[in-house]
Amino acid sequence: MAKRNTSAPTTEAPTADSLAGSSSTSATNNHPTVIPPEFIRKAPKSDLHVHLDGSIRLGTLIELAKERNVELPSYTEDGLVDLVFKDRYGSLKEYLQGFQYTTAVLQDEEALERAAYELAEDNMAEGVRYIEVRFAPHLHVNPNLDMTQVLWAVHRGLKKAKDLFNDSTPVRQNLEPPFEYGMIVCAMRMFTENMSDYYNKFLQIHRYSQRRKVYGLASLELAQAVVAIRNEYGLPIVGFDLAGQERGYPAVDHLEAYRYAHKNFLKKTVHAGEAYGPESIFQAITDLHADRIGHGYHLLSSWLIEDEIANKNEYVRALAEYIADRRITIEVCLTSNLQTNPRVRNLNEHAFRDFQNLRLSTTFCTDNRTVSSTTVSREIELACQYFNLTPSQLRNSIIYGFKRSFFPGTYRNKRNYVRQIIDYYEKIEEEFGLHEKDDQD
Ligand SMILES: [Zn+2]
Repeated sequence: MAKRNTSAPTTEAPTADSLAGSSSTSATNNHPTVIPPEFIRKAPKSDLHVHLDGSIRLGTLIELAKERNVELPSYTEDGLVDLVFKDRYGSLKEYLQGFQYTTAVLQDEEALERAAYELAEDNMAEGVRYIEVRFAPHLHVNPNLDMTQVLWAVHRGLKKAKDLFNDSTPVRQNLEPPFEYGMIVCAMRMFTENMSDYYNKFLQIHRYSQRRKVYGLASLELAQAVVAIRNEYGLPIVGFDLAGQERGYPAVDHLEAYRYAHKNFLKKTVHAGEAYGPESIFQAITDLHADRIGHGYHLLSSWLIEDEIANKNEYVRALAEYIADRRITIEVCLTSNLQTNPRVRNLNEHAFRDFQNLRLSTTFCTDNRTVSSTTVSREIELACQYFNLTPSQLRNSIIYGFKRSFFPGTYRNKRNYVRQIIDYYEKIEEEFGLHEKDDQD
């Protein structure tokens, strides 16, 4: 595992927050309860937004690259941290650079299975009990590896880790909740010839079609493929996602794919409002019927609206109210937002505080454990530190991760699982003297 990620989460500020003049919230704590890192580590947690290719251990990346003759800018973990997987990035482009190396090594079943297994293992090691692992299968399909093999390989890795964990005495004796997972497939808002063998061929075959139509066509093909594979093999493919560059590549291009997913009961999440304004979230909700929103960072940024909208503040208010009322969960990725969004200089400026005030349903996610150099515990610790979460606010947010998951079992199973998680969470709260009776959202 990458050295950076094995270390216990620290309370260190991730940014130049200590700059003179920045208004750190830690000095003005309205809630006297300090939530200890050890509690966060022990509490059952989820990660609903974690990319497989952005979360590969650096040691594994190096090993796989050597075995497969993939060229890396460095073959040491420190070298890769210096050159590629940084704590801070100058731009989204720089942030995305690491993915060319991780996808280059994840081109066979063995590599995919290993990456998935280790991702589950890393989560278990920090008390995460439920993950929804997302990846774009088309980035891994090549002449020697088809879509079914890609999905099976990831499933095998996750299942192997789950089976081992759930065979432990505390889980078998019902003293602790088991580990569970689902898989989310990502369609891409846009792609280029260089991104994968599959995309290269797809673009060549459709060379006389309008590019944006080709992107939508690839998404529809993906939706049809994963529904067929899920139905044939019963794999826990639970959700459909849209990732990639937002600006210039609207959600509406992928309408048919989402309609197909919707009609086949694949749940829907959309990366939106990460690098583009509230309209992107509006499209995700109204065109793609998103059940959850990835990032949603610019939900309230009315000043970024470019569409012809007369009353921008009203537009944003109505959108946020709808999202709050429908309990459309925002997958909040604090560190990632800081790294990809130059507008956010430190977490004091993050929109999460407004999300809280509007009573939106939110859950903390890593986005990319390796590329963002973070863990679920660290994300939660940052939230506690910067937003002065009370124990009940923290509990609500963590429990939402389970309640709003695209759980692969029946609704009855899901309810039982969530109940088990809540009971266990409250037991740990009591151990740490944090349990306060409060209305659950
Ligand atoms: Zn993401």
